[in-house]
Amino acid sequence: MIINTQDYQTQTIFPMNIGVPIKQAIDMKVMDLALIDCSVDANMTVREVAKVFELHQAWPGVILKSGLLFLGMLSRNRCFEVLGKPYALEVYSRKTLLEFYDTLKHQFLVIDGEASIQDAVKTALTREKHQIFEPVVVHLFENNFRLVNIHDLLLAQCDVLENLYDEVHHLSIIDPLTQLNNRRGFFESAQPEMAQSQTSQNDLSALMIDIDNFKKTNDYYGHFAGDQVLRAVAEEIKKTLRQTDLIGRYGGEEFIGLLPNTSIEIAQTIAERLRDAVEKRNVCVNDNDISVTVSIGICHIADANNSLDILLTQADQAMYWAKASGKNQVSLWNAEMAQSTAMTMLQSGLTNKPVHKKKDIKDEQLSRIYDETIEGWSKAIEMRNKEMEGHAQRVVNLTLELAETCGIKQSEIDDIRRGALLHDIGKIAIPDPILFKPGKLNEEEWQIMRKHPVYAYEFLKPISFLEKCIEIPYCHHEHWDGSGYPRGLKGEEIPLAARIFTIIDVWDALCSDRCYRPAWSQSEAKDYIVSQSGIMFDPKITKLFVQMIETQNLND
Ligand code: GH3
Ligand code: MG
Ligand code: MG
Repeated sequence: MIINTQDYQTQTIFPMNIGVPIKQAIDMKVMDLALIDCSVDANMTVREVAKVFELHQAWPGVILKSGLLFLGMLSRNRCFEVLGKPYALEVYSRKTLLEFYDTLKHQFLVIDGEASIQDAVKTALTREKHQIFEPVVVHLFENNFRLVNIHDLLLAQCDVLENLYDEVHHLSIIDPLTQLNNRRGFFESAQPEMAQSQTSQNDLSALMIDIDNFKKTNDYYGHFAGDQVLRAVAEEIKKTLRQTDLIGRYGGEEFIGLLPNTSIEIAQTIAERLRDAVEKRNVCVNDNDISVTVSIGICHIADANNSLDILLTQADQAMYWAKASGKNQVSLWNAEMAQSTAMTMLQSGLTNKPVHKKKDIKDEQLSRIYDETIEGWSKAIEMRNKEMEGHAQRVVNLTLELAETCGIKQSEIDDIRRGALLHDIGKIAIPDPILFKPGKLNEEEWQIMRKHPVYAYEFLKPISFLEKCIEIPYCHHEHWDGSGYPRGLKGEEIPLAARIFTIIDVWDALCSDRCYRPAWSQSEAKDYIVSQSGIMFDPKITKLFVQMIETQNLND
């Protein structure tokens, strides 16, 4: 079966194993390309087709949109031997070949060598462009193959190849997300600009622009939102800089501007305008207003010994200085910065009063997101065990009341609340037959049950935000006299928050129905708590608890 190419209407290039061969060809100074049209059977595997190419000492190449046309390369001699005449293709000069290679090496597609060509093409066409793939390693095998005279075909394909080259070149210099020059595109234009400034001794300034706390933006709102922020900043840069300025996306969240005929003072004014424009721009993604700021470093050609590298490095140093001085500000390069290590920059930055510092920490939002997550977890625990419904919220309220009675600082109250909500999180790792056993647990079952505080510890410990609220989930089964678990802590070795919580937890458990017993009355429960003072519970806290309970109306 010959593949019906109409099925694959697309401009997509299918680079199959091309990077290595082109690189080899360049190294070997093989500059001729020959197109080999192989009317391959759609059911042939990738491996089989690759084999055919090797048989002819060619390198497998790309499949173009117009058909299953393999672009291979043959040395001039091999061209002659195989095809009867040298079909040299002049479309690619050495330079463009190198660029072609450079672009395509990021676009390999992993195709199983046993996949049929038809499947391989389909896979290729469903992939997004620019995705990065590992090179496919194709082992080669024997197969029959028909090589056709392709001279006419070759001519017909020249414009396709030229378009392909233009597309490839465009892709290689433009950042798809922001549509700004990428680093390579920037340098392509910056080098001549720099040379021009040198010869005519014109002013030239560079801006290095870095988004502040961008990682957090990604963490809070996700990468999609992060991408919108990048686009918005790129737009502001385009709006603020002039037509004659060169702009590029230098790295992840770093942009660069090269401003010809621009004194340091004017560069500073432009940078400040840009900083202000970004600060005022709210990026709205999924109903979240994301505020963005940038730090900008500036360097002038007069300080850079006429070298583009030095100019950019120093603009970068100035940008770091702006970061260290509090972010959301503009910094001019000076020699002192070059000598400073990151640490001294930071230290001196701390003593500098930040200019235009904006409240960029979204701790409140972060806390809210965490709290909603924690409440979700807590509800999930309760959903698993209907009997416990409302338990978490009740113990939280009473724990906070008792904590305040015990004089716990307000700054610690939030962690106690979170700890109380999550006190039984470790039970998610306890098997149902043990957790829900109506009768008493046997010793083996108890051993498993006693692990739940340790599970809680292991679960929460890696979450840095929750580190401080680990005390309750980890220590709420420790007893004042050292008879508790998991560590057998004694007296004040047990964290205060856990000592407070334990009383409340037992109180609430006694006052609630359980599958193995009905709820106790509050006065029975209180008597029990008092009886455990100095055994299970901290005597001082027990006393405060009893006073607290007695001021409320006991229900019997
Ligand atoms: P600072 O204020 O010190 O510059 O901190 P920062 O968080 O902005 O800088 P850092 O270098 O720690 O983090 C940069 C982040 O940018 C990390 C990376 O995941 C993210 N990033 C890089 N490229 C992209 C991208 O194309 N899209 C998105 N959404 N994020 C990106
Ligand atoms: Mg940054
Ligand atoms: Mg950065």
